[in-house]
Amino acid sequence: MSSNYPPGVTGNEYAIAGPDYEEESDLPCPKCGKPTLEQRYRHDRWLVCENDHTTGLEPLDEGPDPDRAHDEAVERRLFGDDRYDDWEE
Ligand SMILES: [Zn+2]
Repeated sequence: MSSNYPPGVTGNEYAIAGPDYEEESDLPCPKCGKPTLEQRYRHDRWLVCENDHTTGLEPLDEGPDPDRAHDEAVERRLFGDDRYDDWEE
């Protein structure tokens, strides 16, 4: 699998991959009162409404970086587990 992304861009960037997490929020948009979606990327999270208002929320603090394991799992899925097999006796 080849990548057309420029150096330093893994394809996991928000602009490419989109948010890690998206869910309807119980909180209304503080700017217009519309229902919002809560989106997360890395430890950042925010609300976004249908009028494209975004409202930052407190960043997640989950201790050890869960996204690192997530990214590694994604990499294994992308590249397959074959490359790891060579390292085993
Ligand atoms: Zn709004």
